[in-house]
Amino acid sequence: MVLKMGIRLFKNLFTGPATRLKMREPFEKQRGHIDIDIEKCIFCGRCSRECPSGCIKVDRKAATWELNPFECIICGVCVDVCPTKALSMLKEFRDPSDKKSLKGYKGTPPTRPTKGSNSDDAEKSVKSPEKKASDSKKNEVA
Ligand code: SF4
Ligand code: SF4
Repeated sequence: MVLKMGIRLFKNLFTGPATRLKMREPFEKQRGHIDIDIEKCIFCGRCSRECPSGCIKVDRKAATWELNPFECIICGVCVDVCPTKALSMLKEFRDPSDKKSLKGYKGTPPTRPTKGSNSDDAEKSVKSPEKKASDSKKNEVA
């Protein structure tokens, strides 16, 4: 018994703590919250249709995407089904809030290719990936 304790004591001198004091660093596969790069969104509504808790609303005409974070169960289904990879799961938990506010974003509605238009131009009109990352934050409306 004493010998066992001595061995454990000796080991503890050379190893790190078995526990973490605080959640300083997120775990590798931690699910924190959903984020959207609104410039990548084509407002297809697939995330909204597949979301098991029904907390995403997409308005294609108005080019808006809205999430109720208080109903989101962080399952990640929306991230998996998004065809343009506009959605991502961030490891960090969202900030605490005393108001049940929605997260709303406004983007640019995709335009349909017109008859006789060049297919390259049509693709560009649906997406403009170059300017997406920097503009994502400024499109947040709530
Ligand atoms: S986030 Fe993705 S799945 Fe949802 S509407 Fe936009 S493009 Fe479609
Ligand atoms: S993580 Fe799950 S519950 Fe949350 S918005 Fe996406 S599909 Fe809905």
